[in-house]
Order: sequence, then C-alpha cells, then structure tokens
Amino acid sequence: MNPAKRAEMFRRWREANPSPTTELEYHSVFELLIAVILSAQATDKGVNKATAHLFPVANTPEAIYALGEDGLKDYIKTIGLFNSKAKNIMATCRILIDKHHSEVPQQREALEALPGVGRKTANVVLNTAFHQPTMAVDTHIFRVANRTGLAPGKNVLAVEKGLLKHIPREYLLDAHHWLILHGRYTCVARTPKCGQCIIADLCDFKEKTC
Ligand code: SF4
Repeated sequence: MNPAKRAEMFRRWREANPSPTTELEYHSVFELLIAVILSAQATDKGVNKATAHLFPVANTPEAIYALGEDGLKDYIKTIGLFNSKAKNIMATCRILIDKHHSEVPQQREALEALPGVGRKTANVVLNTAFHQPTMAVDTHIFRVANRTGLAPGKNVLAVEKGLLKHIPREYLLDAHHWLILHGRYTCVARTPKCGQCIIADLCDFKEKTC
C-alpha cells in the first residue's frame, strides 16, 4: 500500500471520529490500568459492568489491596480468567505502593514489570493515559492491518512495528483507537461489513463482501 492511500484512510477515520478513545470506563490512570488488565480476553462491556461496582468502593492501590484477593474476586468473578487476574492485580497494587508511591509509572519498562501487564497493556496505558504514540496490537488491529494491507505482518510485534513505521505522524496518537473501533464494528472477524466501510476503495482485501 502506498503512503497516499494510508494517509487517506486515516484522514477519513479522523473526519468520521475526530476524538476516538477507549470504550473502557475509567476516571484515573490507576482505574485505566486495572480495567486494561481485566480486559484481556474479555469484552470492554463486561469489564465496565464489573468496575462500575468495584471502583466506587476501591480505586487506589491501597484500597484494592485492602479488599484482599477473595474480596477482589467478588467484584470481578463475571470476567474470564478472574482468578489469575485477581492474583496479578493484588501483586501489582503491592508493587505500586512499595515502589512507585502508589502512582502508575510512565515508563514502559516499569509498566511491563507489573504482574498482568504485558507489552499490549503497557501500550494502551502509555497511549491512552500518557499520550504517547504507541500501538497496542490486539486481535482487531492485527486483522485490520493485515486485511487492508496497511501493515501486514506474521505476528503482533511485526504489525506493531509496521504500523508505527507507516502511519503518518499526525495520526499516530489516535491511530490505535481508530483501528480497534474499525475492527470491532466494521472490519469484523467473520464477515467484514465492506458495504458500510468508509475505506473500502482503499483497502487491499481481495475477498471484500461488497
Ligand atoms: S473493505 Fe471490508 S475488508 Fe476492507 S477494511 Fe473495509 S470492512 Fe475490512
């Protein structure tokens, strides 16, 4: 795909949605971090339902730690993998209290050292909370990047690097959200909605449904 096509794709996404953001609900960087940890292999809706009860009761590392692992599980038991997520969140809260003055660190290395926080989670927090132009490649972004020809790659790291290299700088900060939303609602996994797609004429996918 040539640079002009890529730029036009993002121009259209920005025109359609000038201020894209995550669908996870949060009111602080710490709440965002917990919501992103909970969202692994779960839907944002499911996470929002659980955190709507959890955060009013506990939304600091100290308060969640004080709930205890079993207490935390009571709030998140509707979310997949809640046992391991509860364990990781307790350990993460302990580290934030002991090593980071109960603040979420802004450095990738420090974020990825937190239990339950991998490269993708760190990228979401760095981008959404700290406005760094990172690219958190999830299943939606991986699919869109490959189907459209925007940044084809065999694995998530290759796609991440390709997107960071090829997306015009002016769109980089918001690109992650446009790509997720496009994959979640239009370029869906089974049957992409090519007939409703605003970038259909720019997309390289050979088996379009329109
Ligand atoms: S035209 Fe179809 S395959 Fe291409 S981006 Fe749009 S929905 Fe996805």
